[in-house]
Amino acid sequence: MKETPKHNAPLLWVTTLMFSITFLVAAVGVPAYGITHGFDPSQWIMMLATVALCGISITAGYHRLWSHNAYNAHFLIRLFFAFWGTHALQNSVLVWASGHRRHHRHIDNNDKDPYSIKRGFWFAHIGWMLRAYPSGKDDFSNVKDLMKDPIVAFQHKHYLLLTLASNILVPLLLGVIHGDIIGTMLLVGVLRIVITHHTTFFINSLAHMWGKQPYTDTNTAKDSPLIALLTYGEGYHNFHHHFQTDYRNGVRWWQFDPTKWLISGLSWVGLASNLRRVPVFKIREAQIKMQFNQASKQLESCHLANLETWKSSLEKEYDEFLVTLSEWTSLRADWYQTKRQSLHNALQFKWEFAAVTTRFKEMEYALKMQQKRLKLYTLNFQAAAF
Ligand SMILES: [Zn+2]
Ligand SMILES: [Zn+2]
Repeated sequence: MKETPKHNAPLLWVTTLMFSITFLVAAVGVPAYGITHGFDPSQWIMMLATVALCGISITAGYHRLWSHNAYNAHFLIRLFFAFWGTHALQNSVLVWASGHRRHHRHIDNNDKDPYSIKRGFWFAHIGWMLRAYPSGKDDFSNVKDLMKDPIVAFQHKHYLLLTLASNILVPLLLGVIHGDIIGTMLLVGVLRIVITHHTTFFINSLAHMWGKQPYTDTNTAKDSPLIALLTYGEGYHNFHHHFQTDYRNGVRWWQFDPTKWLISGLSWVGLASNLRRVPVFKIREAQIKMQFNQASKQLESCHLANLETWKSSLEKEYDEFLVTLSEWTSLRADWYQTKRQSLHNALQFKWEFAAVTTRFKEMEYALKMQQKRLKLYTLNFQAAAF
């Protein structure tokens, strides 16, 4: 079935008014109040703290925990994420995760991806929520696992009441404690919502537009350190779309991903477990495939004197890569077999484990070296192209 043309989908008045009014108050009301009455540092701190609590509950809770099952979290942590996620005014976990799972499954498909970037920046950022598009229709058949979580079920059932109550009571309470109720309501109530909304929305819009594609070019998702800075680490979106079950988005230790640091911190104190990681080898495999693509494209487009020699050495590299891949796959299969067989023999298991680990490390190293060589090829081709 074809997607209903944009202007035919009925406007969702309540959502449109909510986005418009909060944005207008944040853009006009907040500066006006700031000029006439002023805000003090404690109000700004409360605003930033609630922005962070809402934002990280969306990324660590709504996204990595509930949408992707990237780890397990203690009841109290789930309650915490559900509380601040409700406060973030981005619908219930069930609605959010169901749409997000469809986004992953049908990425860039204008009829099925609820926020396909192929329909433009505005649509992917916010437009998809303003009208009742068929692509955005609720369908909870892909979140049956989440319905078993009592916190998710309770939040979904009472969502409207819960979000209204928290969005009025939390800023009001902070305002009463502070003394300036209107100023605090403006900053913690309204500006906080607008910042949280748009930083999350950047993941659907900008993270599919700006940045590099180190792991896959089969979809529009990009890796951008700048977007990661604004989105608690979610800007490493190319990695995420390729390895969606990994609890990390910025997979390298130095990549800015506070959500991954929070999750591993929670696991150190026993509040999170089962953190899912993609094997290093698989990550390198994806990167190398992309490097081969890039190198052969460059080879075609530049005019090297000894083109054939370059071509054959690149082909040799590729053959070597395929050999390592197949060795890794069979070693992994053997290893599962050995694990099953040596369950009752601890000594044999230990010995096998050490041998296999060494071999896996060697293969990871071989890929690392190959990645470096491919980088050199690319640099050579670039130099030759000028
Ligand atoms: Zn995406
Ligand atoms: Zn995701």
